[in-house]
Amino acid sequence: MSKEAIERIITKQPKLAQHFMTVIGENELTHAYLFVGESGSGQVALAELIAMRLFCHNVDDTGMPCGVCYECQRIQTQEHPDVVEVKPDGQSIKVDQVRFLKSEFSKSAVEGNQKVFIVADAEKMTTSAANSLLKFIEEPTGNTIAILTTSNRSLILPTILSRTQIVEFPKLSLTQLRESAIESGIAKSTVNLAMAITNDIEQMKQFSENDWLAQVQVAVGKWFSKLTQRDDMAVIQIATDIMPLAQDKASQQVILDAMTAIWHETLNQHFQLKTAEQSAFPQQKAIIDKARLAINQRQLISIIQDCLETRREFLGNIGFQSIVESLTLKILSQLA
Ligand SMILES: [Zn+2]
Repeated sequence: MSKEAIERIITKQPKLAQHFMTVIGENELTHAYLFVGESGSGQVALAELIAMRLFCHNVDDTGMPCGVCYECQRIQTQEHPDVVEVKPDGQSIKVDQVRFLKSEFSKSAVEGNQKVFIVADAEKMTTSAANSLLKFIEEPTGNTIAILTTSNRSLILPTILSRTQIVEFPKLSLTQLRESAIESGIAKSTVNLAMAITNDIEQMKQFSENDWLAQVQVAVGKWFSKLTQRDDMAVIQIATDIMPLAQDKASQQVILDAMTAIWHETLNQHFQLKTAEQSAFPQQKAIIDKARLAINQRQLISIIQDCLETRREFLGNIGFQSIVESLTLKILSQLA
């Protein structure tokens, strides 16, 4: 932790970090903020930076907290009595959690005269939880600041939207997104595949549970390899390798996206659009290189169109196994 944590958030959101340090320096902080941005864009980290700036004893010449003093450290380990963080317990923020916040709100600061409340993923508050929070936002007591974060502004109660100052977080660059994903535990070997499927780091984490995404990567890689050898076994493989991974609609969609991604990657190789570090299927590099030489651009484009068409059909109510098998047959005939 410590200084590196501060440097990470400053690199990730330099403008916002500097903006808030200046605002605090000028004593212009408002009492309620809503930070809006994709998960992984550093909302909670910036909220903690703000808290550190408010409590730190060794603010440096540039207006940044030190990150290493007793105050800064307790904030980073969530042990500071006057900096209260609430994160969703499972899928929602329960009334109990907000009740805890409320009782904290009503207490005056334990050590000084400043309190900071951070509510992560505020869209997950139940309506009654949100309403209790609203009371605080409407009638702030003393020197308290509430910072709510969300990745989905449309799920926040309008009454909360209208009473908080909304701060939009800029989208992360692909490099920043990759770094954030790896920081939050996505394996380097699957991070590009995860990014080909979603920009949402929370979703990436779900796909990565129990190595599921890594297994999809292997199964789709095998399917691709059979297809590039014009091997009919690719059809059988849907039942044996793909279906065990396709338990529900969400996972089926990811598998279809991964199938599309490997053909995209082969096409991109034609134009040398991606470097090796950007590959979604690094283990299949040799096969993709070979396929690029054996399959022409026109064929690749037709195959990608077939994949996208299959994805549209899938959104209707057709069974996954049958549409993926017929996709496989279509690709075999494109390559015949
Ligand atoms: Zn400090």
